[in-house]
Parts: sequence; C-alpha cells; structure tokens
Amino acid sequence: MPTLSDVLAVLHRLYDPAWAESWDAVGLVCGDPDAEVRKVMFAVDPVQAVADEALAWGADLLVTHHPLFLRGVHSVAATGFKGRVVHRLIKGDCALAVAHTNADSADPGVSDALAAALGLTVTGPLDPSAADPEGCRGIGRVGTLPEPETLAAFAARAAKALPATAQGIRVAGDPDRLVHTVAVCGGAGDSLFAAARRSGADVYLTADLRHHPASEAVEAGSPALVDAAHWATEWPWLDQAARELTAAAAASGATVETYVSRLPTDPWVFHVPSPT
Ligand SMILES: [Zn+2]
Repeated sequence: MPTLSDVLAVLHRLYDPAWAESWDAVGLVCGDPDAEVRKVMFAVDPVQAVADEALAWGADLLVTHHPLFLRGVHSVAATGFKGRVVHRLIKGDCALAVAHTNADSADPGVSDALAAALGLTVTGPLDPSAADPEGCRGIGRVGTLPEPETLAAFAARAAKALPATAQGIRVAGDPDRLVHTVAVCGGAGDSLFAAARRSGADVYLTADLRHHPASEAVEAGSPALVDAAHWATEWPWLDQAARELTAAAAASGATVETYVSRLPTDPWVFHVPSPT
C-alpha cells in the first residue's frame, strides 16, 4: 500500500508546489509521511463538515483546494475552528494536503475543469505563466463554445453545468448579445478583467465580482460578465483531480480509491429575489 509520501509525490507531480503564487500556502498541512494511504477524498474547503465527511468515509488523506492556514499561526489548539479541524483529522488518522494556486496554474488545472463543464474547447490560458515556455500553464482559460449562442443561453448553460448554489448566476451584459469565445477563471477572477478583454472573449465567467471592478469593466467595454459562486466554479476540478491522481498513482504502481465531496461549502445558503 502506498504511503502518504508516495501519494504526495504523485499529487505534486500533477500540481507542483513550485507553481503556486508566492503568497499561497500549499502542500501537506498535517499527516505522517510514513502512514499508509488507500482512500483519498477531494473537496474545495477544509471546513469541519468536510473533515467529518472525510472521516465518515474512512479517508486516509483529504485534499482540499483552499488552504486551512494561509498565514503563520502559533497555535493549532482546538480552541479555534481551524485547530479543531486539525485535531479531528489527526485523531481520525487522516492527513490534509492543499493544492491551491498550483492547481489553478496546472495543465490541466482548475479552470480546465470549469471550461470542460461549460462545454468549451480550450485554446490556452487566460494569463499564461511566465515560468512555462510552452504557454500551457497559467491562471484562467480561454475557449470557444461549439456554436455562438446568446448571453442568456450561455448563462443558462452555466447554471445547469455548475453545482446549484443560493446565488445562482449573475450576469452583466445584453442578454441577446451573441457569445462564442469565453474566458473563465475558477475562483475570484476580478484581477483578470484586462486579460479577458485582451483575449477577445465575448464573455468572462468567474466568481466573487464586486460592484466597482465590475461596473468599471462594463464601462470600459469589457466582455459580458457572468458571476457564479466561488465554490461552484472550483468544484468541477475535484473530479478531474481525482481522476488524474488515480491514473498517475496507477502508472507508478500504486492503487488509491478516490471520493469527491458533494457537500456544498459555499457560505451563502439562501437568496431572496427582489419582489417583481
Ligand atoms: Zn478559490
């Protein structure tokens, strides 16, 4: 049976920690490198309910997209919710590893899974990594729809393709505008408006868009904007990562069983539409 360090070596070949942004905190959070790992669960957020789900399934390793700790801490006492997650996982013999911006920038990465869910044919990264001479890695993706469709149809496509959330899909732009080239960025992508405009995309789908950046992007003649829930735009990566890990582990002679959490960890749980 592979050890945690064997499985981490495979995970890090897929999502090299060196590809992570300088501010990020990726890799092993807790776990014994010599422990045996048979069952690996994937989730977006390392929250208590996800840790409970991992232990109920008997996971030996939980891989999350978001870091549990992004900044230095001087205590993991179970007096806080992060410390409680660490305690729960260690007591349950389950390691925790994070693949965050290294998974965003991988090829295939988080936005490839998002693009695939939307039915796009990817042509390249939205913001290519300067560290990749082949231009395949980077944040976000640009792709094309099989046929041009209205912005309203594209928004409906996104609502159907992504997991359900209280937010649903918010759109800025003329619903009848035809869209064909699409830029996507899983997670918060409002730093890439200029790249989305340069890419020639008709529409940019991302998450966590705020009033001023969105308003200014629209005024500047940006692509139409589609805003989905952050969790929903990253969730499609989990299946992709589970498949990639299973295949890469098998290629190195190791068998792991994977499971993808379907627990919605979007913090927004209900939405009240304005009366019409
Ligand atoms: Zn995210």
